[in-house]
Amino acid sequence: MISMATSVVTSKRPAGAHREQSFEDNVNFFFDRAAAHCSHAKGLLDQIRACNSVYAFKFPVRHPDGGIEVVRAWRVEHSHHKLPTKGGIRYSPQVEESEVKALAALMTYKCAIVDVPFGGAKGAIQIDPSRYSLEQLERITRRYTHELDRKQFIGPGLDVPAPDYGTSEREMSWIADTYSQLHTGQIEALACVTGKPVTEGGIQGRKDATGRGLMYALSEACRSAEDMKALGFPVGIEGKRLVVQGLGNVGYHVAKCCREQGAIIVGIAEQEGAIANPKGLDEEAVFQYRKRTGSILGFPGATDILHSLDALELDCDVLVPAALENQLTGDNAPRVKARIILEGANGPTTPEADEVFQQKGLLVIPDVYANAGGVTVSYFEWLKNLAHVRLGRLDRRREAATELRFLHAIEIATGKKFTEAERASLVRVTDELAIVNSGLEDTMVVAYQEIRETLRKQPAMRDLRTAAFASAINKVAVVYEELGIFP
Ligand code: NAD
Repeated sequence: MISMATSVVTSKRPAGAHREQSFEDNVNFFFDRAAAHCSHAKGLLDQIRACNSVYAFKFPVRHPDGGIEVVRAWRVEHSHHKLPTKGGIRYSPQVEESEVKALAALMTYKCAIVDVPFGGAKGAIQIDPSRYSLEQLERITRRYTHELDRKQFIGPGLDVPAPDYGTSEREMSWIADTYSQLHTGQIEALACVTGKPVTEGGIQGRKDATGRGLMYALSEACRSAEDMKALGFPVGIEGKRLVVQGLGNVGYHVAKCCREQGAIIVGIAEQEGAIANPKGLDEEAVFQYRKRTGSILGFPGATDILHSLDALELDCDVLVPAALENQLTGDNAPRVKARIILEGANGPTTPEADEVFQQKGLLVIPDVYANAGGVTVSYFEWLKNLAHVRLGRLDRRREAATELRFLHAIEIATGKKFTEAERASLVRVTDELAIVNSGLEDTMVVAYQEIRETLRKQPAMRDLRTAAFASAINKVAVVYEELGIFP
């Protein structure tokens, strides 16, 4: 990286913030807004919108000094129209029941949008993971899993958690092990959770799936000459300037995948502040710097922004909120300079901000579609666990042999031989990662076109978020109508 003196920008933020509604209210607002464009009976819409089951519980954690702390936890299953239900587990000191319900609802709609056959769910423990030792975190995770198991809120055919804010494949591994211990001999036990390490039944490409899926979503949006012209942009990701909020799983990988496609990361925001460099930032170098120093501030060659939220107002083409909900509000939305908002986090944009973006003619690629890459690859992992075989293992050699036969036929027909280099580039032995990424790309592209087409047919919906919610509502409605009501 270029090394030069680090400059500092302090906040120009006006005092006094807007009073916003809760995240759950926001999700329900977006649901109602879309439902107005669908022709379903009110009772059916009420059923789709309602959270079916909420399990709220508490359990004790022992501290090294012998003291005991009681922590709060939840698992919410929003919709059982398809089973199992699916959704991540969040560790955060701020998390509340209402937030978990909002996230579970988003999962239902998200799965429907990308045709992943699951109902929506979400879980959370109200802790700050950085305050606990590794051993305590393991105990907390295992106790949480045990509590879910006792109430049948986890299982390959019941409810399948995954990583979310504050958790990673480490916690998923502990969950898989705990569940397996409690269900000795259950052959599909590993499918009780996804996002596991590859060595513990995980799948290649799951860790970066949400970020990669966001890149595919952006790429598909940027392929449309009509939509890019409306924004005053050339087609394609290449050269687009991105600001990313949050350098965790989603933020890091979306930055990496987009940069590899030619985008320039001009700003990165974290909890302690933000950094900007119009010439471009390397997410890996920033990540390593933060790991070493404990902060992204002072990164060589970049300008420090002391108030992290100010980074959302930096001059850029694409803004990627990839940290938490309610980051773009009625307060800061008017000052956002990006023309595309790519929602990596769940619920980063409030309805007030959404309206501002609408008025400004911005393209918002909504969370409920854009960050569905994680659950899509989780679905592939679940299938792999049930099948007990690595993707591609049975037929990859056979496919390569078929391709070789084609090349040979072409050689005979043309009388010309392929060089070894040509042969190598034309015949590929497909590995699991290639299969996963191609399935992910296909899912994101097909879903984008479906949403875009819905909006084209019903321009009164005005934006992709409304079209995405409407698409989800229609799909879930069909399932409920076909299933009927028991008893
Ligand atoms: P993570 O814990 O890996 O990373 C979150 C990052 O955001 C951390 O580095 C944290 O320090 C940073 N952060 C927290 N508050 C911030 C603030 N105010 N400003 C700037 N940065 C801040 O979590 P994640 O898995 O990357 O999830 C991020 C978001 O993406 C969440 O909304 C989550 O629900 C959503 N999401 C995650 C996945 C997934 O597969 N992990 C899938 C879909 C959606």
